[in-house]
Amino acid sequence: MTQFDFGDVWLVGAGPGDPDLLTRKAERLIREATVVFYDALVGEGVLALIPPHVRMEAVGKRSGRHSKDQASIDRLIVEAALSGDKVVRLKGGDPAIFARANEELQACRAEGIRVSICPGITAASAAAADLGVSLTLRGLARKLVFITAHSKNGATLDLDWKSLADQDATLAVYMGKAAAPTVSRKLIEAGLPVDTPVALVENASLGNGTRIVTRLDLLGLTANAALTDKPAIILIGHALGESATSSFCGPPQRLAEGTPAFRCFPEHR
Ligand code: SAH
Repeated sequence: MTQFDFGDVWLVGAGPGDPDLLTRKAERLIREATVVFYDALVGEGVLALIPPHVRMEAVGKRSGRHSKDQASIDRLIVEAALSGDKVVRLKGGDPAIFARANEELQACRAEGIRVSICPGITAASAAAADLGVSLTLRGLARKLVFITAHSKNGATLDLDWKSLADQDATLAVYMGKAAAPTVSRKLIEAGLPVDTPVALVENASLGNGTRIVTRLDLLGLTANAALTDKPAIILIGHALGESATSSFCGPPQRLAEGTPAFRCFPEHR
């Protein structure tokens, strides 16, 4: 059983947005909390599950928009716990994946606060589910690599492109919208075939975002032309070639044999 005492902190995964993808444990924790600090990526349906008596505080963060800095968030969490609150720090997806969990864990531990993690479904898993694909393929895609392509203030992306350009791997690129043209160019330069399948999924699990299957050399163009400001994940590798869908919010479609891999624009905009 989950122990949640006054003065405890839980870093809770809210999942990709659909409240049905919240774990039962996460739901229990947000009902037991006295305060919830939540990110901008937490789905509205999840926030609606927080009971009215629980204090809710938005603490950011979407890239490019005003939000609290990490140190201020750490301080808020620590102060709430020290004042005797039951604190939930609610984060989109899984709290241990590209979510600055370490800073918050350390800040709590430095003050002797008991802090625990409740995992959540990460965006890559939700996107694979939306596309109806497996992220791994027996004998073909034997690695799954999670990367972030977010760079601070437009700095050059410092990634090991050589090791990422691996035909045995599926790459899940978080925060990769702005860097999509660079990701495409660098992976091709490092040896990935230009026709490597790529999928772009916005608002995974919510059924209201663009889902596109394209190819690596068209990734930058596609991201610029078709993605909006919703959170989007880019998946790259053979496994995405198995996707049966390219439609906007429509039923999965099995495309006829010989259909070109490039199926950029959603049909029902
Ligand atoms: N902890 C989160 C990731 C946070 S980083 C997780 O495990 O999913 C933020 C990035 O995650 C976004 O820029 C986007 O790339 C991705 N993301 C989060 N939610 C998403 C969603 N519903 N659909 C598509 N991508 C999403």
